[in-house]
Amino acid sequence: MAGPAMRRQAVGVNVGGVMVGGGAPIVVQSMTNTDTADIEATVRQVMALARAGSEIVRITVDRDEAAAAVPIIRDRLAVLGHDVPLVGDFHYIGHKLLTDHPACADALAKYRINPGNVGFKAKRDTQFSTLIELALKYDKPVRIGVNWGSLDEELLTRLMDENAAAGSPLGAAAVQREAIIQSALLSAQRAEEIGLGRDKIILSTKVSDVQHLIAVYQDLAARCDYALHLGLTEAGMGTKGVVASSAALGILLQQGIGDTIRISLTPEPGGDRTTEVKVARELLQTMGFRQFVPTVAACPGCGRTTSTTFQTLAQDIEEHLSRSMPEWKERYPGVETLSVAVMGCIVNGPGESKHANIGISLPGTGETPAAPVFVDGQKVATLRGADVAEQFKLMVADYIEKKFGAGKRDAAE
Ligand code: SF4
Repeated sequence: MAGPAMRRQAVGVNVGGVMVGGGAPIVVQSMTNTDTADIEATVRQVMALARAGSEIVRITVDRDEAAAAVPIIRDRLAVLGHDVPLVGDFHYIGHKLLTDHPACADALAKYRINPGNVGFKAKRDTQFSTLIELALKYDKPVRIGVNWGSLDEELLTRLMDENAAAGSPLGAAAVQREAIIQSALLSAQRAEEIGLGRDKIILSTKVSDVQHLIAVYQDLAARCDYALHLGLTEAGMGTKGVVASSAALGILLQQGIGDTIRISLTPEPGGDRTTEVKVARELLQTMGFRQFVPTVAACPGCGRTTSTTFQTLAQDIEEHLSRSMPEWKERYPGVETLSVAVMGCIVNGPGESKHANIGISLPGTGETPAAPVFVDGQKVATLRGADVAEQFKLMVADYIEKKFGAGKRDAAE
């Protein structure tokens, strides 16, 4: 049967009211790239990310000014009606910042700790313990986020030495993956020894190579039941980052692995940070894990349809649907399951349109200038004239009202 493997059973973690793992839907999250000390810019970007659909947003907390800004950011967002949970990203001095800024420690919904960047030698253990004790004090979950760019060097060296002394040593890449996994698992074990519950721990083991990422998460998933945060680190810019992240995460999700995802795209200078959220949502929706917005199936176009009418209509419909969603979600429960087809000619147009809730097959080059419309598999109308797009949009609105509107619900009651 077509479909993903059964979801791996992970202990659920409540991140500021959003459940991660424990059978909850896979959560979309993102990270700001503003200076957190710049309160205005950070509030603006968190709001944009939340509006785009990010259910958790991480912010950098790298110095006193940033830590001092966090509770103000939290309050401003609340006033503006955005209660999206904020995660603090800490490196090197997280123990100090959280100790010195109790309001910051309280305002955050989760702390992200990188075990490779907590400190060195003897200090590492005490600073890690302090972070966990602070999580306990403020009743916050943590993500123990290992990254191969900042892997615990002592652990890696020890595993390399042990491997070299072994009878049949593994390759360097396999040892590195083992070090990444052990860094996460040993840190989680240490956190539990200090008193943090399993329901307060999320793990991630990010690398920037697709095949290594898949291997490392498959292994990690099999060795623990902590909730897992998936992400391909440093995925890159543009289509490369989108494809690499989607390939890696898509395969893991299909295998039932992953409770929350972040797509780490490098934006173009001045580019839109919300792209990473859009990609994460598209990935979950296209694979059938979540349904956020109605689906628009549009053909790619070819030499059979030289006019741009259908491209314009497909774009128009897509924008119309996503613009209307905030209001429709309230008015039309279930509208996100709607499917619309906008097709360019008779070859696949009628067939694809029949598969959608509502679909239109526009005339290709040389075809009769008429556009049949199909509703739930049946041809219901043939549109003609220069305003076919407007007529079709009205038919979509009518369909939504009938299928998801109050009248439909009243009739069912
Ligand atoms: S439906 Fe028609 S226009 Fe669209 S890609 Fe297929 S053949 Fe080309």
